Amino acid sequence: TQITNHMPTEELQRLDAAHHMHPFTTNDDLEKKGARVITRAKGVTLTDSEGNEILDAMAGLWCVNIGYGRDELAEVSSRQMRELPYYNTFFQTTHVPAIALAERLAELTPYDLNHVFFANSGSEANDTNIRIVRTYWQEKGQPEKTVIISRKNAYHGSSVASSALGGMSGMHAQSGMIPDIHHIDQPNWWAEGGDMSPEDFGLERAQQLEKAILELGEHKVAAFIGEPVQGAGGVIIPPSTYWPEIQRICDKYGILLIADEVICGFGRTGNWFGSQTMGIKPDIMTVAKGLSSGYAPISASIVNDKVAAVLGACEFNHGYTYSGHPVACAVALENLRILDEEGIVSHAAQELAPYLKEKFESLGDHPMVGEVKVVGMMGSLALTPDKTTRAKFAADVGTVGFMVRERCFANNLIMRHVGDRMVISPPLVITKAEIDTLIVRARKALDEGY
Ligand code: PLP
Repeated sequence: TQITNHMPTEELQRLDAAHHMHPFTTNDDLEKKGARVITRAKGVTLTDSEGNEILDAMAGLWCVNIGYGRDELAEVSSRQMRELPYYNTFFQTTHVPAIALAERLAELTPYDLNHVFFANSGSEANDTNIRIVRTYWQEKGQPEKTVIISRKNAYHGSSVASSALGGMSGMHAQSGMIPDIHHIDQPNWWAEGGDMSPEDFGLERAQQLEKAILELGEHKVAAFIGEPVQGAGGVIIPPSTYWPEIQRICDKYGILLIADEVICGFGRTGNWFGSQTMGIKPDIMTVAKGLSSGYAPISASIVNDKVAAVLGACEFNHGYTYSGHPVACAVALENLRILDEEGIVSHAAQELAPYLKEKFESLGDHPMVGEVKVVGMMGSLALTPDKTTRAKFAADVGTVGFMVRERCFANNLIMRHVGDRMVISPPLVITKAEIDTLIVRARKALDEGY
């Protein structure tokens, strides 16, 4: 059978359920209720196989920063496929798209993050980081420094190593852990702050890093990894005291600081990088998603001069067939050109972010809504049965969040839930009128209750 957009939706859903295993999904459920079939997209709007127009307040999976439907990226991709569809960057070969993208990233990133190792996904880039960090300390004559400290509910990817690095217990339960990864608590004041002020709580959570270093042994700890703002963990914007204290501790003990910028990078938090918004000076940055706005799979580990000097002196036994894929590099370069030359990052930061904040915070008057937090172009709200006590629902965590997500979906709005927190991360090209629509649909979904 030729399967096309013109087939009846039920038939597409039946074939999908029969043969396609979806990520993070109970696949048997798809036989009862088929997946929504998305057929095309433009700007911030998806169209499904029934002709419904859906406002995508998640930019896909936090990645379509530039918005859907930019022909320039299709053109660059087709040109590059004709000229050089593939060549690798192993064994002393290179090509112009990889050179140009590495150079551009060195220029765009802050500080002396000047050296770029390409991969295809955030997961692979974080696997790369584990290798980089452990190789770094081996080459410096301290091979016992292997432990990487991360945080609960962090998301660093889905490969076995990157999911171990992350702090999602459901993933650990299914695939197990890898050695020498340690997790401290996340700075989620609403859920875990109790009677403390956000500032005291932020300090307390950051100081868990120092405690962990001392308990595990200073001579064993290699690095700390964190998303400047935890994304998949619920858009947890840390109290202002948190990151300066983490930075102080990393500097004091000389451990490498890895900023996982897979979501925060490329304008999401109001600057090019979340490290700038949070005032962090990482030794290593992970980037993906917004690097190509999702138009091609590509990611990178970007390291500073200090790390590159050590790593460059040995053979680094690591790489992927598609590291620095020419088509993906060309697409990413064009995406970065558009983000920059059209002023998308600066317009989002100056014009859209304050508007989004004001409008999203207006949902805070809803009886089911507790804390509402926004940084740049990402935000979250906590659902609660009682905002004065920050109470949790009687139902299992995530039950109400899932229902609100379903109501949003039925109202043609994609908002995601993380437990009982609703999160947004729209394309950076959303208009103010579309932000208004987002809020109207979100309020309607909330009004429909649970
Ligand atoms: N790191 C962060 C912060 C992420 O949010 C994600 C994905 O959501 C990843 C890493 C993994 O990226 P990928 O799904 O491309 O492997």
